[in-house]
Amino acid sequence: MTQMLPLNDGRSIPQLGFGLWQVPAASTAETTATALRLGYRLVDGAAAYGNDAGQGEGIRASGLPRDDIFVTTKIWNSDQGFDKTLRAAEASLKRLALDHVDLLLIHWPCPGKDLYLDTWRALIRLREEGRARSIGVSNFQEPQLTRIIGETGVTPALNQVEINPRLQQPVLRAFHAKRGIVTQSWTPLGQGHSFDAEPIRAAARRTGRSPAQVILRWHIQIGAAVIPRSTREAGLRENLGLFDFTLTEAEMATIAALDEGQRCGPDPTRFEMD
Ligand code: NAD
Repeated sequence: MTQMLPLNDGRSIPQLGFGLWQVPAASTAETTATALRLGYRLVDGAAAYGNDAGQGEGIRASGLPRDDIFVTTKIWNSDQGFDKTLRAAEASLKRLALDHVDLLLIHWPCPGKDLYLDTWRALIRLREEGRARSIGVSNFQEPQLTRIIGETGVTPALNQVEINPRLQQPVLRAFHAKRGIVTQSWTPLGQGHSFDAEPIRAAARRTGRSPAQVILRWHIQIGAAVIPRSTREAGLRENLGLFDFTLTEAEMATIAALDEGQRCGPDPTRFEMD
């Protein structure tokens, strides 16, 4: 149902998944199990979302074999540093009630703390110990990527960053492509800001798809992995319908022109929240 993208460590990742940010802890198990039964195979969570116990419970409730599901979690800012990261990862696995995750990310670089390099070394250790099958980062920019690669020789498998039609990050994506890093788009729908933009509406009319599907398909065609969030079954189902239609080159070009370099979320050069 979903395409796979190769990772630079020999593994692969479903190009489409679903995200758990702001999904209430009390309903996370149900949302997760529903999404997996509908056909999703990647669950994007984080310690900071406060719902990882439900993430694990939903995975078990789905009845799917563990190896069929790609589980992501992230190390929060206040857990950065070598030893703290090792402890935080173990605590996440305990809440998830899993013995490994498929992908462990550093949630934000927090350049002011200057701990992301030690944190990256801890992720390398956790991969060696089999607690994370693949390791990557989130919200990193080129200088931080260059530094951790240069210091450790280990290139992140993936960088999860804000990308939507108003914030397309072409320079960062080109850097990822050069280094073999998968780009994964967060807030891919851009808080609906582009739903009414003419290029989106025109492509939606031509394909008979919704604006959300057109935008998510645009992510697929730029080669990014994408993790939309919906707590409604109809929304989850709609966002799965991305692999049976194609945007034309002209449509892709008109959507590219919507880039304004404008973020929905925080600026990663300054975001240091604990
Ligand atoms: P999103 O772009 O997925 O949008 C979610 C919003 O769009 C919700 O209000 C939802 O109801 C609505 N929506 C979903 N499908 C729709 C559809 N088909 N039609 C109309 N509306 C629809 O935004 P998000 O949740 O911010 O981002 C997705 C995921 O990315 C998160 O859940 C989280 O896992 C991840 N994320 C990561 C970071 C990070 O720092 N690494 C930051 C933000 C989000």
